Amino acid sequence: MNKPNGPYGFETLSIHAGAAPDPTTGARVTPIYQTTAFVFDDAEHAASLFNLQTWGYIYSRIGNPTVSVLEERIATLEGGRGAIATASGHAAQMLVAFSLMRAGDHLVAGNKLYGGSVTQFTRTFAKFGWDCTLVDPDEPLNFERAIRPETKAIFIEGLANPGGIVVDIEAVAAIAHRAGIPLIVDNTLATPYLCRPFEWGADIVVHSTTKYLSGHGNAMGGVVVDSGRFDWSQNDKFPNLAKPEPAYHGLTFHETFGDLALTAHGHAVGLRDLGACMAPMNAFLTITGSETLPLRMQRHVENAQCVAEFLESDPRVAWVSYAGLEANKYRALARKYLPKGAGAVFTFGVKGGYEVGRRVVEGCELFSHLANVGDTRSLIIHPASTTHRQLNETQQIAAGAGPDVVRLSIGLETVGDLIADLDQALAQASEQVKAAE
Ligand SMILES: *Cc1c(COP(=O)(O)O)cnc(C)c1O
Repeated sequence: MNKPNGPYGFETLSIHAGAAPDPTTGARVTPIYQTTAFVFDDAEHAASLFNLQTWGYIYSRIGNPTVSVLEERIATLEGGRGAIATASGHAAQMLVAFSLMRAGDHLVAGNKLYGGSVTQFTRTFAKFGWDCTLVDPDEPLNFERAIRPETKAIFIEGLANPGGIVVDIEAVAAIAHRAGIPLIVDNTLATPYLCRPFEWGADIVVHSTTKYLSGHGNAMGGVVVDSGRFDWSQNDKFPNLAKPEPAYHGLTFHETFGDLALTAHGHAVGLRDLGACMAPMNAFLTITGSETLPLRMQRHVENAQCVAEFLESDPRVAWVSYAGLEANKYRALARKYLPKGAGAVFTFGVKGGYEVGRRVVEGCELFSHLANVGDTRSLIIHPASTTHRQLNETQQIAAGAGPDVVRLSIGLETVGDLIADLDQALAQASEQVKAAE
């Protein structure tokens, strides 16, 4: 099999999509093209590349062959048309906003988001002249009420950080389309193995590939995936894509590249000018990780389900927010959007609040205390004092990261070992707090 594009299954595509044996050496694994620049055939070839009249490589800030393989792989797994890989998940969010917005424009986003996204949207966006309104995604009509004439997109996490929250993607997509704007879904926590937002009407998907797509906690990265289905010329809202671009002699991206307009703009203008490209080494690690994505996600959700059920039945635990539990308020949405499992990042509250929670985090031996998710290793953190620290308490509670909340990212270890570790940490913490009373 060389470069498959037939109706292959998800597991086959995870290994093969975008990659073919190297045509000059026969290398079966995609090489790390650790080069800054690429030689032109002649002056005419160089000119046509710079004019965007020919696809090809110029300079690795704009495109690199290793990175391209990853872009095609993830676009295929999401069922999208094209993709732009970036230095990190936050760079992907910046890049997509840069293609859609101009100064004075506005974004509506769910308020159940990765803490860093709330900070990026409400503080850093303002420096570009972009405004953002955060709304509670539990009620889709909240998005509609927040839309203004200058709103250019709706942004949600389908399966939301810090965990256990599921948003009604189909309903929010319908609201976006009525307003003539695209829906952007951050699919980091679900991955295309558990949820494919384009099948529910989303127009653009973003990922922090730092998490499950690379999967081993060893490579920063992000990606913007375009479904290719949004019509950028249906109204006057998207001049970056639908009006002539002076930096390319008046070329119009939508007219010239059709359903690849956003992908082309993201490379030719976004990466060119923002500069947040993915390193070839990180693309290589992420390509390798993506090959085992289906196997890993299967085990991640199995382990998470077991740990969540253990915590739910434990008298020392106040509550567990995991959409895989029957009693969870997002269970019906999870059945619809995440039929293979509700992810492996979720939160719980310990009886005794802040102090017991903090001690449980410190008492774990197998769980690593750090700020990441989607690693092979199990991770634990207290969001209010770390990832969501920059938010005020009202925003923390709105984001599901209140003072009593502990977040878990369940890894691929033997699940009995994970449960035993939490059990001893809970016992230790409860005793310490009782002794102090
Ligand atoms: C980590 C994360 C981000 C940010 O990605 P980086 O790669 O850390 O820049 C965005 N969204 C979600 C859901 C995340 O988990």
